[in-house]
Amino acid sequence: CLPLLDCGDAIDTLKPTFVPSKLDIEKVSSSAEAQNACQELVDILGGHVSLMSPDGSDQLGGKGCAPWSLRYSGHQFGDWAGQLGDGRAISILVTPHPSDPDTTYEVQLKGAGRTPFSRSADGLAVLRSSIREYLCSEAMHALGIPTTRSLALVYLPELPVIRERVEKACVTTRVAETFIRIGNFEALSPPSRAMFFFGGGQQHADYEALRILGEWTVRRILKLGNVDLDAGDAWGKELVFEVARRNAKMVAAWQAYGFMHGVINTDNVSIAGLTIDYGPYAFMDVFDPHHICNHSDQEGRYAYNRQPNMIGYACRALLNALAPLIGAEIAQGNKAVQKGWANNVNDETISEWRTAGIEEVGSTMNQIIESTYTIEYGMTLRRRLALRRVEPSDQRTIFQPLLDMMENQRLDFHGTFRKLAFFQPRMLHGEDNSGTTTLEAFIAELLRGAPEWERLDTGKATEEWLAWLDAYAARIESEKTGGGWAGEDFDEARGRAAIAANPRFVLRQWLLEEVIKKVEADPTTGRHILAKVMQMACSPFKPWGREGDASDNELSEEEREE
Ligand code: AMP
Ligand code: MG
Ligand code: MG
Repeated sequence: CLPLLDCGDAIDTLKPTFVPSKLDIEKVSSSAEAQNACQELVDILGGHVSLMSPDGSDQLGGKGCAPWSLRYSGHQFGDWAGQLGDGRAISILVTPHPSDPDTTYEVQLKGAGRTPFSRSADGLAVLRSSIREYLCSEAMHALGIPTTRSLALVYLPELPVIRERVEKACVTTRVAETFIRIGNFEALSPPSRAMFFFGGGQQHADYEALRILGEWTVRRILKLGNVDLDAGDAWGKELVFEVARRNAKMVAAWQAYGFMHGVINTDNVSIAGLTIDYGPYAFMDVFDPHHICNHSDQEGRYAYNRQPNMIGYACRALLNALAPLIGAEIAQGNKAVQKGWANNVNDETISEWRTAGIEEVGSTMNQIIESTYTIEYGMTLRRRLALRRVEPSDQRTIFQPLLDMMENQRLDFHGTFRKLAFFQPRMLHGEDNSGTTTLEAFIAELLRGAPEWERLDTGKATEEWLAWLDAYAARIESEKTGGGWAGEDFDEARGRAAIAANPRFVLRQWLLEEVIKKVEADPTTGRHILAKVMQMACSPFKPWGREGDASDNELSEEEREE
């Protein structure tokens, strides 16, 4: 099984795998050799066997390594939380990308048992949360949202896990270029007030480790083109800018696709701008900008409309951690700090450097977040509305009025976008002679998604839609010439683009609940449902199920049934 673990290939070529129990392996292949190999794979991905041999040598001819977990700290719900760390995440391998020698993937098990950072917890994960992460990370990837990926689930029904009720254990294998979080930087450079005492212990700064981690991140993950580490270029500031840029892009995609993370603590914000740590997340159903998907978040700190601000907050935590180093770089004429840079430096100097670093970077970082966010969010919403020309007034004249309408009429966020993908400006002029899609019928269809349809003032709502569709049609038609659609049949190309940007399949809460229930009840049949939902999550723009659009005819009877 070891070549299989060279996951560079696996991540793109293997379908994510669900292994319900060891016994099932018999079905995989009749050859004893294949069964042994498969058993070995399950043992490794289940956290039962380490890639490191008991004698200390590794099984990958020197390429492998002992499993490891990382220390991190972080701000949780706005408060400094002291040391946290990978309490149930264990990395087992770094493996090269099959075609890009500069990129490596880290393979990590989540829920494989206790680590040095488990504190009083068990290091395990339950089937329910594992299925949620397993499916959603692939669903996000399919929507083009940066995320850690999932590769396998190993279900361990013999291992009970005590939560509010007794549940069953499950290990997720996840893959990413890195799992480093903003909290890893904070752990090495805690806020000054936390240095003396926090909870169970003192928080020690380790500025030399901060330098090493930062240089590694710049070289291996961020690959900053404008920083030559070997020439001694200063890098602290550029690191912060790039992390801010990446996370601003990520949260813009969250907003445009109605994704709510639920726990944007700084230890859950990736240094690579990936969506990480799928907990109480949810996709938006009825559009409510104030929606809170995390039941323990009473104040709505991580509500949908606050997510961009909370990403900004996390970036500021990163800046605070790196600020002493950035200040030191400035103090020595914008050159990178060297080994032992903070040795024999008193607290007062560190504090001065910290202030200088924040002053140097703070406002530019905020600007980067804001402008990157605005550009990315606009780009994605335009893609969803099949518009190509950048028009700064879109936010005010098209996007916001649409969102306001969805909110006031309590319409489904994704359902509305998907239906709008079938809008054609000619419907407005009554020129549609297919006889089926008149403008009124189209609007009625849009409103039918409202859960409180009976209570909706449909007359008023229809008026609002008529006005908005009028503006949208004009905006669409303004792209007929010089809008970037030259050489294509405008209506047809727009239609195709809209379908390809608005998922037919959305990984909604009720669906997750169904899948979890089915797998819990019977893993053997449940795995097929899980596999099917994974397949749908991986191809969300396909016309799964019944929709009534022409492309539905491509489905066989059997597919329709499913
Ligand atoms: P989260 O809220 O999921 O980001 O987790 C916060 C911290 O608690 C992280 O350091 C986790 O590693 C840790 N943690 C959560 N669940 C467990 C568990 N079952 N065992 C050990 N550590 C855990
Ligand atoms: Mg976490
Ligand atoms: Mg978590």
